[in-house]
Amino acid sequence: MPGSNPPLIELRGVARVYDGKGADAGHPSVTRALSDVSLQINAGEFVAIMGPSGSGKSTLMNILGCLDRPTEGVYKFRGRDVGQLDSDELARLRRESFGFVFQSYNLVASATARENVELPATYAGVERPSRRARAIALLEAFGLGHRLGHRPRALSGGEQQRVAVARALMNGGEVILADEPTGALDSKNGDEVLAVLRDLAARGHTVIIITHDPEVAARAERRIDLLDGRMVGDNATPSAHTPVPPPVPVPAEASVPSETGLRDMLRGFRGAIASFAANLLRGKRLRTALTTLSVTIGVWSVVAMLSVVDGAYQRGVQIMSRAGADEISVLPGRSSSEYRTRSARLTFEDAQAIAQEVDMVRAVLPAVNGYEILQRGDRRMNQWVEGIGAGAQSSTQWALERGVFFDERDSATLQPVVVIGATIRDELFLPSEEPVGDYLLIGSTPFQVKGVLARFARPGTSTVDYRDRRVLVPVRTALALLFGRQDLGSLTVLVKDPRRLGETLQEVEELLARRHGFLGFTIEGNLGAQIGFSRVERLLSALIGAVGAISLFVGGAGVASMMLVSLSERTREIGIRVAVGARQRDILHQFILEAVAITLAGGLLGTILGFASSFLVKAFVVSASFSYWIVFAALACALATGLLAGIAPARRAARLDPVTALSR
Ligand code: ADP
Ligand code: MG
Repeated sequence: MPGSNPPLIELRGVARVYDGKGADAGHPSVTRALSDVSLQINAGEFVAIMGPSGSGKSTLMNILGCLDRPTEGVYKFRGRDVGQLDSDELARLRRESFGFVFQSYNLVASATARENVELPATYAGVERPSRRARAIALLEAFGLGHRLGHRPRALSGGEQQRVAVARALMNGGEVILADEPTGALDSKNGDEVLAVLRDLAARGHTVIIITHDPEVAARAERRIDLLDGRMVGDNATPSAHTPVPPPVPVPAEASVPSETGLRDMLRGFRGAIASFAANLLRGKRLRTALTTLSVTIGVWSVVAMLSVVDGAYQRGVQIMSRAGADEISVLPGRSSSEYRTRSARLTFEDAQAIAQEVDMVRAVLPAVNGYEILQRGDRRMNQWVEGIGAGAQSSTQWALERGVFFDERDSATLQPVVVIGATIRDELFLPSEEPVGDYLLIGSTPFQVKGVLARFARPGTSTVDYRDRRVLVPVRTALALLFGRQDLGSLTVLVKDPRRLGETLQEVEELLARRHGFLGFTIEGNLGAQIGFSRVERLLSALIGAVGAISLFVGGAGVASMMLVSLSERTREIGIRVAVGARQRDILHQFILEAVAITLAGGLLGTILGFASSFLVKAFVVSASFSYWIVFAALACALATGLLAGIAPARRAARLDPVTALSR
């Protein structure tokens, strides 16, 4: 305000009416706690506000300290109408200009003396090292250097009140508002605190002290009397109207805006974890542990479910593969008319190219097939004979009932060996005969039986499975000894994931068309099975989703109820935080972060237990899988639960009226 020199504090016609909400419905009791108060206080004054109990002293102080607003009249601080400020601006004003000292000290019980003193600077965004150094310096100045790590409970009343004064000075304490600061102290300690306040006034702070004790009031330079909410006396001397000296310098860091975003958030989170740990260490151990456990159980069940279902899914993929859902068959020749005239010649090189160049391919099985006469003794039959690669068995995981599968060397050296299906064995051999090592004729060539495939048809039923009639010989043997040709009859491409059958089919087609220059192939896959499979998968996902949501809901409800209980216990703490300059947002963040800290702790424990149990399940019952995405999903669920569970209590905490909160 250039030109004019407004008083530091100016009240004009201020009144505060409590509208008696919560009193008898229909008979609202209206209390006029203050009426028509007009006064000016200059910087550097030491003022006592006197009056009997109930005369409105605390109400006046709350208005002066911007914890409360007048219902009528104007309050100007440094010439600025406080009534025009929003709640963040008021918080900033409290933080930077005011320091409160209360009759009941109002220290945060769970914080040490040093942490209590640091609190206002925390909300001002001062970095930890400088804030800590200043807190220590202040406490040392008040003779509390040996009490830094003590919590309020371990301090005497006089010591607590000196901690409170140090806190009031943390951000500068331009105006010290002390509400009956000696009321709870013996005369020696009371005198000490008064001496400190006097000294502060002498050093340029504006000190406003509320008391009902005339002796205390006599220590001040000026005395304002209140009775029934009205000013009945003020011994202000006109000479006291000195121009406003520059405000006591606030430490430079204190004016750093506290909206530093992510860092602010991380700092808050550290605080939340610390308070979680503090709860576990003191007092609320059982409650905190039980709440954490409720989240643990929720996340545990989610992890166990996910890993079992994921295991079941992977098992499902295997089963689908056995059922042919991962197979693409490539045949030379194309049934659509435009290509009928030309048919490509499939080669081993084509097989190799597909295996190397197409992404999702698990294996490529070259084959050549045809009808041959099968003969053993007097039994003869016309039979479909397949020449296949030795890799087929490991890719398809065909189980053998007896003997072994032929290998690469058998194929490379054109060995006449054969693996037969169970029905072929039944038809060519007596039950008492050992087929492995014996011979049968294919065409006119004797082939030695190397192995018999395990029966595909369900035992004990009359089911027939075409796969039990398979006659398998090494592909190169078949080409050379049976069919007398060079090019392959077909290729079977196995895909890694049956769900990607369609796109893989397309890629194979494009690759072959490129290699041969035209589309001389028929490429087929069982897309129906693929569709069925993704349906089952979706069903499973919905199932886990539902069970997981229910368990997490239980955990989340536990966290929310704990936060609400702790909210009612910590109302006063919230009032203190607001008084030292916390914004509503700071309180909101604090509560949400505390809920998140609890759920993350529960989430971590639940994840560990979940995996431990899924290993057990795996060892004894069914397949379960261990995937990192499950850890991620579980912790994300825990986090989301914490956020959701924290929101309602946090909003309630942030909306608390600081005056009511402090009076608890
Ligand atoms: P003092 O601090 O001088 O003892 P207060 O300012 O606390 O007086 O209270 C002044 C009057 O306002 C009292 O009659 C008290 O009952 C009333 N009062 C204070 N706070 C509230 C409130 N939150 N709701 C209703 N009445 C209140
Ligand atoms: Mg009072």
